Amino acid sequence: MDIHEYQAKEILSNFGVAVPSGALAYSPEQAAYRARELGGEKWIVKAQVHAGGRGKAGGVKLCGTEGEIYEACDGMFGRKLVTHQTGPEGKGIYRVYVESAVAIDREIYLGLVLDRSSQRVMIVASSEGGMEIEDISAERPESIVRSTVEPAVGLQEFQAREIAFALGLDPALTQQMVRTLQGCYRAFRECDATMVEINPLVVTGDNRVLALDAKMSFDDNALFRHPQISELRDKSQEDPRESRAADRGLSYVGLEGSIGCIVNGAGLAMATMDTIKLAGGEPANFLDIGGGASPERVAKAFRLVLSDTNVQAVLVNIFAGINRCDWVAEGVVQALKELQIDMPVVVRLAGTNVEEGQKILAQSGLPIIRATTLIEAAERAVGAWRNDLSQNTKVRAVK
Ligand code: GDP
Ligand code: MN
Repeated sequence: MDIHEYQAKEILSNFGVAVPSGALAYSPEQAAYRARELGGEKWIVKAQVHAGGRGKAGGVKLCGTEGEIYEACDGMFGRKLVTHQTGPEGKGIYRVYVESAVAIDREIYLGLVLDRSSQRVMIVASSEGGMEIEDISAERPESIVRSTVEPAVGLQEFQAREIAFALGLDPALTQQMVRTLQGCYRAFRECDATMVEINPLVVTGDNRVLALDAKMSFDDNALFRHPQISELRDKSQEDPRESRAADRGLSYVGLEGSIGCIVNGAGLAMATMDTIKLAGGEPANFLDIGGGASPERVAKAFRLVLSDTNVQAVLVNIFAGINRCDWVAEGVVQALKELQIDMPVVVRLAGTNVEEGQKILAQSGLPIIRATTLIEAAERAVGAWRNDLSQNTKVRAVK
């Protein structure tokens, strides 16, 4: 799960990371009021969307008067911001963050990520702040400092000092840098984050180390431990298909093809999509119903997959270990009866209670295409979809 910049800044500042003073606004009037409250002469108005690259896309504006704040807000509220990270459809702007502007002396890149090969949190820093990390690693790879943290002891002071020295930071700022790094590391660990990125971390004209931008992502599987973080979820920033599925406890991935896939387990989903491609088709999406799916859950999955207008055929591929084929079959039958689906539906079941499952499908009287092996299922799904397309007649029951 991702959160907004202002939310990440609040979390990080609770862990001792210094941030500029700022306040949130939901309207241009409120933004102007916030600026007056903050005082000073210059403010930065920042569109709050779950994406970086806002600066270049017009989502970050320096303002010196109330009029400029209104103007900046008019260009943001209710509009979509398209950056290189949002995709062409962009992300809606419904909140802006108003901050006191600071004079920047130096910009530093700071990121904390999970490094899979060392199985450690890795701190990545560069003296080339303000640029995206991808560009830094392409253009100035020698500027990147990497340091992995031993989880048993956490980020040690000497290690944080080494990073500060490697960045060529003025020794007078070392203590502030150590505090920032340790704060970020503790926030990462204690909140079950998967990513913390501060780009840029700046040294101001009056020698303060400040997080000018902040991004945090969290491990969805650990959110149950952090109700206060779960509450920060903003659905206006998510793919509606995926958030609808998440609300129902299902994981859904939208793709571009025409065959909807209902599977259990990510590995089986991958194999199913590969096999569909091998058979000459393209998956429209995949929906993982997980283990122990009740008939109701399967029916819900069907509704979700069918709400995707790209879908022209459905392939259900279940290997029941914890699941039960008879429950899955009941769910399929329930959904087909309820939804009056007029497209080919192919079902392949294997594992626990497979005979009962097959019987339920066969006795339902519904035009369900059954298959035994995965390749057979994929070929039937692709074949039925093609047939539907070319003849515009419905392919129906195979006993
Ligand atoms: P991003 O483009 O989405 O990563 O948004 P950022 O929060 O990083 O803002 C983009 C750029 O705006 C930063 O890299 C800074 O150069 C600039 N910026 C943001 N806040 C300030 C500020 O208070 N003072 C100055 N001078 N520049 C700022
Ligand atoms: Mn940034």
